[in-house]
Amino acid sequence: MDESSFEMITALEAVKMAASLCEKVRRDLGGRGSFLKQDRSPVTVADFGSQAVVCRLIRKKFPADIIVAEEDSAELRKPDHLRILDQVASYVNEFVPDSSKGDVCSWIDLRSHSVADRFWALDPIDGTKGFLRGDQYAVALALIEYGTVRLGVMACPHLYLDRDHPGEKRGCLFYALRGKGSFQMDIDGRDGRILSVSKAEDPSEATFTESIDPEHSNHLIHQGLARKINISKPSLRMDSQAKYGIVARGEATFYLRVPSSSEPDYKEKIWDHAAGSIIAEEAGGKVSDLLDHPLDFSSGIRMEKNHGILVSNGILHGVILEALQSLIPHPPPDLPLEGGGV
Ligand code: AMP
Ligand code: MG
Repeated sequence: MDESSFEMITALEAVKMAASLCEKVRRDLGGRGSFLKQDRSPVTVADFGSQAVVCRLIRKKFPADIIVAEEDSAELRKPDHLRILDQVASYVNEFVPDSSKGDVCSWIDLRSHSVADRFWALDPIDGTKGFLRGDQYAVALALIEYGTVRLGVMACPHLYLDRDHPGEKRGCLFYALRGKGSFQMDIDGRDGRILSVSKAEDPSEATFTESIDPEHSNHLIHQGLARKINISKPSLRMDSQAKYGIVARGEATFYLRVPSSSEPDYKEKIWDHAAGSIIAEEAGGKVSDLLDHPLDFSSGIRMEKNHGILVSNGILHGVILEALQSLIPHPPPDLPLEGGGV
């Protein structure tokens, strides 16, 4: 087996295990088993459990590799959260028998704070708010080498497999390897199919997807763009990187993330985009920021060089970016328009 196949098999195994743990937690605890972090965002038993099982497996198979991930165990170890820690350890034990609370915390803390030439980026639950609401969420894992995403795996346990039959089986596993295409299987790893983006050439035929949370992107500017390019269909609002999967399989023509007016200087995090971006690109799509700059996965956890996100079928990328320029008040002063494709 070559190295990239081994990486993919390991990533699929890790993400499937994490998704299965998350679904067990969701079925058993629903919205219980969570607390607010210092930044006021929620974290759940499932976020910690997912990070523990993924980090443990990656470290076991690739001992030299760095893993950059969203959570750490500092809050979990506090006396106030003892019950949550007990629950995390109990769920992890269903997948890794005989693991102690100490083991679980140490696996969570395998995460590093800084990027390297080669590293894994993990969001153990992307869209925690969606998870708590019973909506969409994703487990997203990517391997990055010299700033390029080489592999991405993303589980969306609640996403319908086929848009024409949304009431039928749910649970998608997306995966992509650079240069080898983008694929979707069901959550158990069966029924694989090749993904490709929409062929829409006329902007008025386009459909788009965006976050549910109005604090995460600017819905008003999105609506202004839709009016400007004559999109008549309402947007598909969805939590998490599942939106990248929706574009990859041609269900939406593009995914737009103009920074929200409440936090216009927010810097996106690498684990929120790494896995999704390769899945969309390998399906024939294009991913950039709003100034047509490639996403920056090499500078650190925060994507300092980027402003907003556009994921499209490629064909309409330039048209959308151009239409956006007059709607976005002014590009931030440290991000000049030079070098962009618009
Ligand atoms: P979504 O489900 O697409 O709305 O995105 C969820 C992600 O948004 C979370 O993983 C957060 O890391 C990220 N996030 C948190 N605050 C902001 C913000 N002000 N702007 C954009 N993204 C944010
Ligand atoms: Mg996230």
